[in-house]
Amino acid sequence: MKQIVVLGGGTGGTLVANLLAKKLKSKEAHITLVSASNRHLYQPGWLYVPFGRQDPRTLSRPMASLLRKRVKLVIGKASQLDTESQQISLEDGQSLHYDYLVIATGSQVAPEDVPGFSEGAQHFYTEEASFKLHAALEEFRGGKIVVGVGGLPYKCPVAPLEFTFLLDEYLTHRRIRDKTEIIYTFPLNRVFSIESVAEVAQPLLEQRGVTIETFFNLEEVVPEEKLARSLEGTELNYDLLIMVPPHRGAKFLQGHPIADEQGWVKTDRSTLEVKGCSNVWALGDTTDLPISKAGSTAHFEAPVIVERLAARLRGANNDQIPEEYEGHVMCFLETGYGKASMLNFDYSHAPEVAEPSHLVHYEKMVFNKAYWYLVPTGVL
Ligand SMILES: Cc1cc2nc3c(=O)[nH]c(=O)nc-3n(C[C@H](O)[C@H](O)[C@H](O)COP(=O)(O)OP(=O)(O)OC[C@H]3O[C@@H](n4cnc5c(N)ncnc54)[C@H](O)[C@@H]3O)c2cc1C
Repeated sequence: MKQIVVLGGGTGGTLVANLLAKKLKSKEAHITLVSASNRHLYQPGWLYVPFGRQDPRTLSRPMASLLRKRVKLVIGKASQLDTESQQISLEDGQSLHYDYLVIATGSQVAPEDVPGFSEGAQHFYTEEASFKLHAALEEFRGGKIVVGVGGLPYKCPVAPLEFTFLLDEYLTHRRIRDKTEIIYTFPLNRVFSIESVAEVAQPLLEQRGVTIETFFNLEEVVPEEKLARSLEGTELNYDLLIMVPPHRGAKFLQGHPIADEQGWVKTDRSTLEVKGCSNVWALGDTTDLPISKAGSTAHFEAPVIVERLAARLRGANNDQIPEEYEGHVMCFLETGYGKASMLNFDYSHAPEVAEPSHLVHYEKMVFNKAYWYLVPTGVL
């Protein structure tokens, strides 16, 4: 009986564990999912919390309620991985052996990477921070808001743009938009990393009266002076600073031989195998793949890993397994005032941005509610 361990109980890990439980017979493998948290978090909902449009309590569910009965759940944080002896150590002292391993430990925010960030900046990239930002926005009466991206890569690349559009709408509804200057910053020479998206987003930001500051790589925040300084030497004063914090992979992966210094796991772009380890796969935010870190990415990667792992377990070698990941990502893009667009792309096709519509916004709202029944369960 083979031992399969899935590390991480987010979108990617939960889906992989459930699909494996569906695909493999009980006598073929034991499936264990290890997760640092006993709750599964629906992070896309955090975008709406600062504006009072989403109750944060509706954005998590107990891990156990989302897993097929066959999947053994272990709550614990992986602290070491030995790919030679095929062992994982957890912080509480437990040790687990695996024959096949799937790494889905996502990304974590690292505000500590930028001096002054934790004291001076707000964000919406954790449950707690999005709620704190709600309080800060409620107190805001007008002034200068700087909103942007504090480090690359970061998850859900469109979220800062969406946040800016929703912020414009929120301030307009509160009748303080004319008393507020919004400055949007981005580290590259355009407002978004993918050119076709930047070409659509820039005029939309301009129409909403948002000032754009590109080539702004956040170097430090000086809370006493309410100042954000970039590597390029630009200094921006703010009354409210809202920045996506830098991201890293899980701590036990930072500097591990299978990952880089930031903890991004070296992953084959097609087979999703971890480079140098033929019995380990990675998906979701934790990979070093040059594609969006998004729930939809993990969603499209999961079935590829399940098919490849199952075939290998049944004796196939790599050339006999046709399933490959082609870089498919799908993202909604909220543009405010009840409208949204959708991006669909892969390794060979850049996204085309459709005209924002009420229908797509409505689809996003429905998806946010239906997520629990469709995605981690593997129904969709
Ligand atoms: C504000 C916001 C809006 C977003 N909007 C969208 C959107 O509209 N569309 C979209 O597709 N994506 C969106 N995303 C991104 C999406 O939520 C993530 O990309 C997705 O959750 C990644 O899935 P994952 O399984 O890789 O990681 P996660 O879902 O983050 O799961 C990682 C899991 O690993 C566990 N873990 C971490 N370290 C360890 C360890 N050492 N040991 C054991 N377990 C560990 C965690 O507890 C967690 O359960 C958004 C994210 C944010 C923050």
